[in-house]
Amino acid sequence: MLKRIRLGDDVMAYCGRCKEERMHQVVALHSEGRIERVTCNYCQSTHLYRDPEAKAAAMPRRTNGARSVEVKARASSGRPARSYSPQETYATGDQITHPKFGEGNVVEARRGKIDVRFGREMRTLLHAG
Ligand SMILES: [Zn+2]
Repeated sequence: MLKRIRLGDDVMAYCGRCKEERMHQVVALHSEGRIERVTCNYCQSTHLYRDPEAKAAAMPRRTNGARSVEVKARASSGRPARSYSPQETYATGDQITHPKFGEGNVVEARRGKIDVRFGREMRTLLHAG
């Protein structure tokens, strides 16, 4: 006869945070009486219970394919670059061409001023906004 586990019981379990087996307190049970969640007595982290004996079977499988692809082509939004003039109004994300600094990207538009990135350099320019 197996010992019946109840909430609050102490069990040995592998702690993912401590990276070793620790005493854990049972904080959630399945309806069948199996342990569902435990709290590590050492680091106080709560996690799913992993049976030490069933470790090989329940090895967490790494899913590398699900990693989100970084969206990189953000700077060029496809909008045509406008030539810079202090009489014009610009908004964040606008592409501009400056007679002196070349192609730039409006990082922030404020009242009367815009912060523009020209390659690696940031410049603050006037605008009519
Ligand atoms: Zn722990």
